Amino acid sequence: VFSLRGGILKIGIIGTGYVGLTTAVCFAEFGHEVMCSDKDEKKLKLLKKCKSPIYEPKLENLLHKNFERLKFTSKNKEVVDFADAIFICVGTPEKNGKPDLSQVEEAAREIALSLKNDYKLIIEKSTVPVNTYQWVKKTLKRYSKSSINFDVASNPEFLREGSAIDDFMNPDRIIVGVENKKAEKILRKIYKPLIKKGVPFLVTDPATAEIIKHASNSFLAMKISYINMVANLCEKLGVDVTTVAKGMGYDPRIGDKFLNAGIGYGGSCFPKDVRTFIKIAEEHGINFSLLRETEKINKAQRKRFIEKVENVLWINKNKNIAIWGLSFKPGTDDIRDAPSIDIVSELSKQGANLRLYDPKAMENFKKIFPESENIKYCNDKYEALKNADALLILTEWDEFKNPNFNKMKKLMRLPIIIDGRNIYELDEIEEGFEYYSVGRRAVK
Ligand code: NAD
Repeated sequence: VFSLRGGILKIGIIGTGYVGLTTAVCFAEFGHEVMCSDKDEKKLKLLKKCKSPIYEPKLENLLHKNFERLKFTSKNKEVVDFADAIFICVGTPEKNGKPDLSQVEEAAREIALSLKNDYKLIIEKSTVPVNTYQWVKKTLKRYSKSSINFDVASNPEFLREGSAIDDFMNPDRIIVGVENKKAEKILRKIYKPLIKKGVPFLVTDPATAEIIKHASNSFLAMKISYINMVANLCEKLGVDVTTVAKGMGYDPRIGDKFLNAGIGYGGSCFPKDVRTFIKIAEEHGINFSLLRETEKINKAQRKRFIEKVENVLWINKNKNIAIWGLSFKPGTDDIRDAPSIDIVSELSKQGANLRLYDPKAMENFKKIFPESENIKYCNDKYEALKNADALLILTEWDEFKNPNFNKMKKLMRLPIIIDGRNIYELDEIEEGFEYYSVGRRAVK
């Protein structure tokens, strides 16, 4: 199959979001020539200047390092003309409880209009419901002008925001769903550096690959909801859920990852992927009640946290509440479906004065909650504490883990911490503080 010297391929990336851009810079790092397209002119302007439009550790470094192998354009036609293998990395958000695949359809249609009779492999990397590849194929055929020569493959992405580059470079597995050997061979060439390192490379049909992605994310979400229910029980019993999780985690059948009790999962993937998987099952006559419950528990966890604040402060109205952490997880500026959104929204409705701080996500948060009379953004974590009646911790950023408790106590009106992420050991809480966390006894 086609390749330039030394196994180098010409790769196209459609959509330069968290997944597309990470994929692009990593493929360039492998030595491939990469051209990316996006609809968003603001992103393109930054990218052309070698600046990342998103915060993601190590991403900008790789962008700099491999800039000569990366091209950026607003025209999908240029990508199709340039590349032999084209990855669709556009968003698949949710609309009215259903996955909105209009970006995928549009990308496929635009690719179709530029296809000619030289062979192209079109690869779905976006997370899509099972059998979407059939629609992509159909769309490519319907909208292309001439006789065309292509395959469609599925290559779901498992990277996590906050460690996207490391995850991409050291994945637990690579899943490729293909319909023939030719497509498989091309994907093997693309991922050769990782396959050589021994990363498991599982070849399936496209529908199986699509299902693997939804089944994996839904399982992880279920694990979080499970430990959160255990936490709720532990909290009533005065038992420490972190020790329970540790004890469970030694069993390799359970594993110690994803057993952190807290205010639940958020982000652009888990909530929507769980709901999509429920929907897919339902469309095929399967009631995936286990996942319905997973989702219900996750929502309730945010509510329980707000109730906890009420139980501690009695009345939230006119209270000064400091909030550390807005992003849905540490290491990212992404706030899509973050628990902080529900919590800030409810507390401000109740009339609390909120002082917010996050190392990376404040600009994005301001787009939903502009600065106002009772919502203030602060330049550092201590500034948020001035005169606070309580501090809420919503994201487990490293910089919150070893604070100067003395300084905190001096700044706060009341030394109360309500921690939604269990970032402190109970015995490290200094004298004089009241500390409430999830699934552990309160320290008073
Ligand atoms: P994103 O919203 O950050 O990026 C999508 C990009 O595609 C945007 O920049 C948008 O402007 C661009 N786009 C949309 N239509 C286009 C078109 N026709 N042509 C060119 N560009 C177009 O999304 P993301 O977080 O990178 O996620 C992308 C996909 O990957 C989703 O399906 C998501 O579920 C999946 N995924 C995401 C993650 C994650 O951690 N973010 C992890 C694994 C999988």
